Amino acid sequence: MATIIDGKAFAARVRAQVAAHVARLREERGIQPGLAVVLVGEDPASEVYVRNKGKQTIEVGMASFEHKLAADTSEADLLALIRRLNADPKVHGILVQLPLPPHLNSELVINAIDPAKDADGFHISNVGLLGTGQKSMVPCTPLGCLMMLRDHLGSLSGMNAVVVGRSNIVGKPMAQLLLGDSCTVTIAHSRTRDLAAVCRAADILVAAVGRAEMITGEFVKPGATVIDVGINRVERDGKAKLVGDVHYESAAAVAGAITPVPGGVGPMTIACLLANTVTACCRANGLAEPEGLTA
Ligand code: NDP
Repeated sequence: MATIIDGKAFAARVRAQVAAHVARLREERGIQPGLAVVLVGEDPASEVYVRNKGKQTIEVGMASFEHKLAADTSEADLLALIRRLNADPKVHGILVQLPLPPHLNSELVINAIDPAKDADGFHISNVGLLGTGQKSMVPCTPLGCLMMLRDHLGSLSGMNAVVVGRSNIVGKPMAQLLLGDSCTVTIAHSRTRDLAAVCRAADILVAAVGRAEMITGEFVKPGATVIDVGINRVERDGKAKLVGDVHYESAAAVAGAITPVPGGVGPMTIACLLANTVTACCRANGLAEPEGLTA
């Protein structure tokens, strides 16, 4: 049976590291890192995420600035807020909660954020920097996956990595990060032929598909490390349940190590958002970045 990679415990360790760095910044420099989160509209799932982000930001000693805007907020008003946050020296990280209501152009809004404060790493400049192997702000979910892989496997150099999913938020940046760590990387997607055979070549298999339990044990090479990014709400025996993109039982019977859902990648995402904010604060002040919290 596979080793379980405990994302909840790992995220607690990352938060503790962030908190220690925040405390040092305050004591030695009188600086408090600050994260601004912008939520437009009343999507219940987004409200839960934003609440959790605010709570954890405060718990690690950072300043949290929440901006809740009405669903019918105009693009001009949202862009004006982003300009204010870009100019605010107390704000080191800015996150606009996605998805935005349909009348707002997400790309335009994200690209209005100062790239140095782009805590989610979605700004086109950061995408380009990551793609060319330069220092950037790295998207939180793939960064969390990378941290867990490094922690579990040590050097990833030379390993075969397969990422299933090519989204801009998870799949593509995940592939770039694995390439940066010298893996041989394959990106699979909905048009990939014989996906199971492609996946079975992977020493590292990352599933970011958005399809409940699609990746079964048949897709897993014996001993491989499986990272399940998926979060799918399903009904089982009349009860609502969260499952990943990986069929846990069958995959865990073959894999060497696996992340569970819940309690795997999920908790790492917010921990990496906090890590990105402290990194951005250090860079903004010309200070050394915390070790092990960036790619
Ligand atoms: P997207 O829907 O943007 O992308 C899904 C990708 O999976 C696409 O590239 C798609 O291919 C591919 N795909 C879909 N069906 C198949 C198939 N049958 N075979 C092979 N590939 C397929 O999703 P995201 O990347 O945003 O999210 C992926 C999952 O991760 C979701 O479950 C989401 O909830 C979860 N997630 C979890 C986070 C966390 O914090 N843990 C954060 C973000 C996402 P194609 O491009 O060809 O259509």
